[in-house]
Amino acid sequence: MEAAAAQPAQPAPKLLFPFLDLKAQFDAIRPELLAAVESTFESQSFILGPEVAQLESEIAQLTGCRFAIGCASGSDALLLALMALGVGVNDEVVTTPFTFGATAGSIARTGARPVFVDIDPGSYNIDPALIERAITSRTRVIMPVHLFGAPAAMEAIGDIAARRNIAIVEDAAQAIGASYRGAPVGSLGALGCFSFFPSKNLGAAGDGGIITTNDATFADRLRVLRVHGARHKYSYERIGMNSRLDSLQAAVLRVKLPHLAGWTALRQRNAARYTTMILSRGLERFVTLPVAPDGCTHVYNQFTIRTEHRDALRDHLRARGIPTEIYYPLPLHTEPAFLYLGYATGEFPQAERACQQALALPIFPELTEAQQSAVVDAIDEFFAPTSARTEER
Ligand SMILES: *Cc1c(COP(=O)(O)O)cnc(C)c1O
Repeated sequence: MEAAAAQPAQPAPKLLFPFLDLKAQFDAIRPELLAAVESTFESQSFILGPEVAQLESEIAQLTGCRFAIGCASGSDALLLALMALGVGVNDEVVTTPFTFGATAGSIARTGARPVFVDIDPGSYNIDPALIERAITSRTRVIMPVHLFGAPAAMEAIGDIAARRNIAIVEDAAQAIGASYRGAPVGSLGALGCFSFFPSKNLGAAGDGGIITTNDATFADRLRVLRVHGARHKYSYERIGMNSRLDSLQAAVLRVKLPHLAGWTALRQRNAARYTTMILSRGLERFVTLPVAPDGCTHVYNQFTIRTEHRDALRDHLRARGIPTEIYYPLPLHTEPAFLYLGYATGEFPQAERACQQALALPIFPELTEAQQSAVVDAIDEFFAPTSARTEER
């Protein structure tokens, strides 16, 4: 018989609450959600259909755009937007290396080359001052990401794009409801791309995405591209794909959409509460707080602080049952999938530093003041030398 296994290392302590509590959201709207699902089954219409068309017009309205075209995911929204612009082999698309993989992945999938530009360390978004020197005769698109829910510097980006006759595709996957100087994200470029992944501010019960535009030609093209490139069944006008939004997802999203403004306000309240708690304890000496860029509405898909002691702080918080996440552990130019681009470590120092220092705290709408206090208490405990604490008492 085998000897009894050695005691495993201490099990990870139980979290006091989840990083994102989607169950709390479900509990609050359960009857409407289940009724919407049931009525979709009654209709037996599962692909596109009236729920999708209605959601599209509601999202168009929310984003101040003439058109919205549903698709299967935020990643597909980016890919379809680039396809609608005719981006492909020999083209270049300028974007940030501090983002989710799909941003650059969608560019690479068209055959075009992702060209990275470093971020502004304050906003975590692409630094417009560095864009111009990355532009070549092959540059077709600038793809800013409104990371964590904060709009990118769209005025400066728009100036460059207009001067160079380059299109803008917004990766607004994390920023539904955010606005830049009064203009909703999604309406600030040729095409805006949103994700309904469950963890986004407006999340489906699975995958989903949508593309917004004011251009009737792009809208028409996208409606063809998402159904195999066929305007009519078996009449293939373009090489398209199968990327539709399910009726079930649209029905779920239509139940949630009227709550979005309220949920966003709660995220903003939570952000303000963290800020107050952190400042009132003088912790801003140790951690940098996120800021909403001037004149912008930040919708806090994430509340990201930064510190040189990120990994140790994260371990300390986890030991006290406080959930955190790292967005993102590696900048895309150092990820295996993008090494073929030939960038070296050190080329995008701000993105690289953000990957080492950024730490996302829980910010979901249902988070309570007591839970936030527990988070900030644990941060305080990490930074305040234990001895000094003891003496105080
Ligand atoms: C979530 C996300 C995507 C991709 O969306 P999916 O719906 O998961 O495909 C793209 N870009 C960013 C910045 C994202 O956060």
